[in-house]
Amino acid sequence: MLKLKNIHTKYGHIEALKGIDIHIKEGEIVTIIGGNGAGKTTTLNTISGIIKPVAGEIHFLNKDITHWKADKIVAEGLVQVPEGRQIFPNLTVYENLQLGAYLVKDKLKVSEKLEYVYYLFPRLKEREKQLGGTLSGGEQQMFAIGRALMSDPVLLLLDEPSLGLAPIVVQNIFKIIQDINKKGTTILLVEQNAHMALSIAHRGYVLETGKITLEDNAKNLLSNDEVRKAYLGG
Ligand code: ATP
Repeated sequence: MLKLKNIHTKYGHIEALKGIDIHIKEGEIVTIIGGNGAGKTTTLNTISGIIKPVAGEIHFLNKDITHWKADKIVAEGLVQVPEGRQIFPNLTVYENLQLGAYLVKDKLKVSEKLEYVYYLFPRLKEREKQLGGTLSGGEQQMFAIGRALMSDPVLLLLDEPSLGLAPIVVQNIFKIIQDINKKGTTILLVEQNAHMALSIAHRGYVLETGKITLEDNAKNLLSNDEVRKAYLGG
């Protein structure tokens, strides 16, 4: 479904991605784990077209999307949930969610999507008339995923959904990510919380200073000595 071939991304002279290869098959949850500054967010932003790579190719659903604009990539079904939640504080939760569907022309589809989001996150339904700015951190993360689902993704890119959240909230959100996957959406998950990410993923990549250093199924990565030492607390 998605293939990155030898992707290089730079910020000025700094090479943040130094030739990475990643592939994702339909139906998978794939995770990229790595420390601070490894290039995880850069990888997602490169895939979603927010930053353009200086070399390499990105193929999505058999199309070369390397040079596509970000909104065209969203319309194709590749949707990113950004790190930091970016909810409009002075619009209601309902209004904010509707904005997520701005590319979906079919009104019936929009209301179906809204129903699906409220089914996954009943808390958002309860709060639909509240202003975005009043949501707690966990609710904002739910909202961010919900808004991305409103644009009808085939592949969802998640950037650090566990960031700043209490463990119980993280568990809830990761369970919902699994539910979304079981309902047919393929997922690429970027996380510093390697344990949680590998516990729901099928496969994973380890990213270190802009290079993929390891690639395996999640079970093997969880029991890999290097991964345990570096990312799972020994
Ligand atoms: P974190 O979990 O801390 O967000 P990350 O793995 O997502 O880390 P990136 O944010 O992708 O890492 O950063 C990769 C490298 O690129 C880092 O060295 C970072 O300092 C650098 N970088 C990121 N954004 C910019 C930018 N806008 N301008 C210059 N350098 C940047």
